[in-house]
Amino acid sequence: MSGGDKLDFEIRPNANPVAAADRTALLANPGFGRIFTDHMVTVRYAEGKGWYDARVEARAPIPMDPASAVLHYAQEIFEGLKAYHTADGGVSMFRPDANARRFNLSADRMSMPALPEAVFLDSLRELITIDRDWIPTGEDGSLYLRPFMYASEVFLGVRPAREYLYVVIASPVGAYFSGGIKPVTVWVSPDYTRAAPGGTGAAKCGGNYAASLAAQAEAIEAGCDQVVFLDAVEQKYIDELGGMNIFFVFDDGTLVTPPLTGTILPGITRESVITLARDAGHEVVERPISFDEWRAGAESGRIRETFACGTAAVITPIGEARFPSGAFTVGGGASGEVTMSLRQQLVDIQRGSAPDTHGWIHKIA
Ligand SMILES: *Cc1c(COP(=O)(O)O)cnc(C)c1O
Repeated sequence: MSGGDKLDFEIRPNANPVAAADRTALLANPGFGRIFTDHMVTVRYAEGKGWYDARVEARAPIPMDPASAVLHYAQEIFEGLKAYHTADGGVSMFRPDANARRFNLSADRMSMPALPEAVFLDSLRELITIDRDWIPTGEDGSLYLRPFMYASEVFLGVRPAREYLYVVIASPVGAYFSGGIKPVTVWVSPDYTRAAPGGTGAAKCGGNYAASLAAQAEAIEAGCDQVVFLDAVEQKYIDELGGMNIFFVFDDGTLVTPPLTGTILPGITRESVITLARDAGHEVVERPISFDEWRAGAESGRIRETFACGTAAVITPIGEARFPSGAFTVGGGASGEVTMSLRQQLVDIQRGSAPDTHGWIHKIA
């Protein structure tokens, strides 16, 4: 029955899947977000009816009326997580239950209906199972899963839509950094902020990304890889990158990361890093840290390492920061020891080569 916590997925296998030899060729060098599997999940929602028509079907364009609400008022949210081949020959996901919970927090902020967590988790399992042959086998490869939801109701007017479409697509991805991990250079934007108090900074919505593109373009212009956003009120404290959270490693081994005050996306990698760092005996403090403190700390050596983290790139060392009137390096511009050790621990748990003591791994098969 619709509206319940569980739905039966109707499986409609793709009648024209990519030929095995072509798939193998695509998987040899998948890049990131460029190729997609044979199937997708779709589930519909209508007010008064709840969630219905859960399907696994051939991945295909979705017909859309030009008056679909999302095209005008941007009610859209998404998630991102990965499925992997593990050391024991199985397939697993990393903390999908955390993504399910966050999806509903995002939905709530954007006045969209909650999706039962069981439906979210089942949708991922169904897609991974039918497209299992698309999971890259190399040690850096994974299947990136992209669940999203948007307002599909056909109407113009400013109110929450009454109809939604939930979709999951999957993209085989290789190493995020080809040629190994290199510290990135970040641009501290003087012109743009990402999220204001009371805004949508803690929701994973497409709109936040649309608003970050101008800052990212400014970063590229300045020869940087990524942008670091400062808080919108004082333009003084560090919030996060366009799509990654940030950590600072002090000379006494303490890690500092900005607190979740509503303007920062609550990253699942961020939370996992906090847990692993504490397990390893580090003190981790969630507190505001200003750009001036970062700069002075990097220059004096009090701050030894800085890194960014998120699902796509896991953990990325930050070697240099640039801003309109200057630049400074962190830890001599090299990848830090604590950074790389945390990265390895996280990857080992994800790949099943280190014990999963926190119950983070969800086995598919
Ligand atoms: C998704 C995202 C992150 C990272 O979250 P993870 O759950 O670790 O992947 C960080 N910042 C923003 C703005 C994001 O959208």
